[in-house]
Amino acid sequence: MRIRSIGARLTIWYTSLLTLTFLLLGGIAFGLLVYSLSRDMDTALNGVADVLAQRARVEGSAVVPSDVDELFRRFFGFSPLDRHIEMFDPRGRRYPRQPPSHSSQLPLSPEALKNASQGLPTFETVESTGSYPARILTMPVIRAGRVTNLVQVGMSLENMYKTRRRFILIMAAVLPFALLLAGGGGWLLARRALKPVDRMTQAARRISGEHLDERLQETASGDELDRLAKTLNEMLSRLDDAFHQMRQFSADASHELQTPLTILKGEMEVALRSPRSPEEYQGVLESGLEEIDRISHLVEGLLLLARADAGVLRLDLRSVELKELLQEIYEQMKVVANDHSVSLQTASMEAVSIQGDREHLRRLLLNVVDNAIKYTPAGGSVTLSLQHDGEWALLKISDTGIGLSQEEQERIFSRFHRATEARSRDEKGVGLGLSIARSVAEAHGGRIQVESTPGQGSTFTVLLPQTQT
Ligand code: ADP
Repeated sequence: MRIRSIGARLTIWYTSLLTLTFLLLGGIAFGLLVYSLSRDMDTALNGVADVLAQRARVEGSAVVPSDVDELFRRFFGFSPLDRHIEMFDPRGRRYPRQPPSHSSQLPLSPEALKNASQGLPTFETVESTGSYPARILTMPVIRAGRVTNLVQVGMSLENMYKTRRRFILIMAAVLPFALLLAGGGGWLLARRALKPVDRMTQAARRISGEHLDERLQETASGDELDRLAKTLNEMLSRLDDAFHQMRQFSADASHELQTPLTILKGEMEVALRSPRSPEEYQGVLESGLEEIDRISHLVEGLLLLARADAGVLRLDLRSVELKELLQEIYEQMKVVANDHSVSLQTASMEAVSIQGDREHLRRLLLNVVDNAIKYTPAGGSVTLSLQHDGEWALLKISDTGIGLSQEEQERIFSRFHRATEARSRDEKGVGLGLSIARSVAEAHGGRIQVESTPGQGSTFTVLLPQTQT
């Protein structure tokens, strides 16, 4: 089952990790406890056995002394009831029992006997007659280099086992409580920490395409959620701008299409109102054709921009001699320039060829040169030049026209944007020429830029990547 709430998942993770840590620490603590209890017991057994062996060595007796209680108290801190002390001869035979020394007989293992014959002590844990095993130490008594006796000291492991069991019981009792407390606390913390996310989700749900101006609440705390809210708000701003531009674009496009259609419709209605001479009809048709040309030019431009936006502008790439193309444009636009009383000239024209779509490049250059002529008052001049700089072909169109303010220079490449000055001059145009020029330049891997001084003129530079030869 997949758990959908991050809070629940965090709590599960947290509690699992805590359980693991608890078990691990518990295990380590238990191990240390067992180790230290065993070591303490062995040390105490060794102490008792040492004293007994010492006495046996000095006195030469194999009798278990009567002050065993005191001895155990010295080394263990108390005298256990189920203690065990016994003496054996070097061959492992038991000496007669001494009543107060022990509660039960424990075996002497062959291994302990063998070790003792080599002068070594042996610690063993053995089953005893009681319900708990016993720990015994067999120590040889060495006198004049010979093993004369064996001392066996032992004690039931009851206390140790009980302490171990108590430890486990305490752990088992504490663990569920600790986990419940930690899990509950974790769950509350996670919920508290994630509450802003819920609020954000609700707010984001409210923001639809119609309410893109709404923003998520930022807490200014600088934490992850605040950063997320900031990022989402920035994204919303960009979306809002994009939506706004899209709406503006559709409104402008419809408006621009509406004007020629209204003119066309009006002219035809007037023509049909009363019978006309063939010349009059011809006049109406010619004017109608002009409007249709405007519409189809506009639609063509819109289509090109839409394709470029969608990244599907198809370029018929061939080698294009830019000098030749610019020359052609020069010839074509000379007439237009003449009509405007503007002198069109060419400056340095280097031979540069690029891989490009000739028709699209022609449209780009025509738009820019046409603008230069349009926005240059009579008596001014427009100069075309072509150079190359490294891997770039530079096509420059300079005019001595009305120029553009810094602010306008940044906006003229936007769709349907026309500078105030241009509108007031009542020049024909809809504000798509430069957007198209930019799209074509970019589709060729190049760009278009402008430098201008209001009242003095502008220079548009088209940069196109050259063919590597
Ligand atoms: P249009 O020429 O149809 O208005 P464009 O996209 O070609 O549209 O140009 C956008 C605007 O840029 C123009 O309206 C004009 O304000 C400005 N512009 C373009 N070329 C020049 C120029 N050479 N000198 C001054 N202004 C220019």
